Amino acid sequence: MNTPESGKTLSSRRVSRIIKGMPATDGAGVELTRVIGQPVLPMLDPFLLLDAFRSDKPEDYIAGFPLHPHRGFETVTYLLSGRMRHKDNAGHEGVIEPGGIQWMTAGKGIVHSEMPEQENGMLEGFQLWINLPASHKMDMAAYQEYPAEQIPLESREGGIEMRVITGVTSHGTKGPVVQPLTEPLYLDVRVPASQEFFEEITESHNAFFYVIHGSVGIENEDDNTVWLARDDLAVLTHGEVVKLRAGQEAARFLLVAGKPLREPVARGGPFVMNTKEEILQAFEDYRQGKF
Ligand code: MN
Repeated sequence: MNTPESGKTLSSRRVSRIIKGMPATDGAGVELTRVIGQPVLPMLDPFLLLDAFRSDKPEDYIAGFPLHPHRGFETVTYLLSGRMRHKDNAGHEGVIEPGGIQWMTAGKGIVHSEMPEQENGMLEGFQLWINLPASHKMDMAAYQEYPAEQIPLESREGGIEMRVITGVTSHGTKGPVVQPLTEPLYLDVRVPASQEFFEEITESHNAFFYVIHGSVGIENEDDNTVWLARDDLAVLTHGEVVKLRAGQEAARFLLVAGKPLREPVARGGPFVMNTKEEILQAFEDYRQGKF
């Protein structure tokens, strides 16, 4: 295709699958929607899980996620509404607020709690799990945390706006989070009604978008435009550029991409390693208080 942005001919990413989330309960009884990490989409390498939560009913979220461990990957929490307090066994504590990101590299192990910092009102956001390569699964735990005001807002012609959490856009805006192991792109994009949106994405990265508001049109592999609604996830084919269009109302979506690791994945609850033996070791290390 020919993009007005670059004048070059770039290969297009199409939608290969449309995924609906499934209702799930996690933590101490939090009602959420599991989009990646469910039977129809167990993972999209390097993405292991995507949970979406949106509720103004305290009974859906108030129990939160009391103390639990992680090892071997990263948890990325992005809030749209509400507040979440996190606290870990290394003395790290803070509150994530709307528009804020917490990018936690669990590495060899962290024990933490993630609890709503509110007793009522709307809690809305996402948690994405991103895998780490075998050579870095046992690194020290680390955080990259940024409130909304430290996340750059890129504005384009036609009223398009996006928050750039990590990666570099085709217009050169760079997000604050850095992760060279998977080279992620994480954008929160708003496109006015009927406007087109183009973005270049590293050709071999796996990529998806998730519709937060409105509807988003994209071509499928048969050159037909298909429309995704709120809470639909689109898995994209490989290619250099994604071309989307907002429907009759303004659209908002997350656009996420990352470098596939192509390594064996062994899961055990909150641990994601390469082999079953490493999972058993993680449970044993946790039981012995080695986290
Ligand atoms: Mn957690």
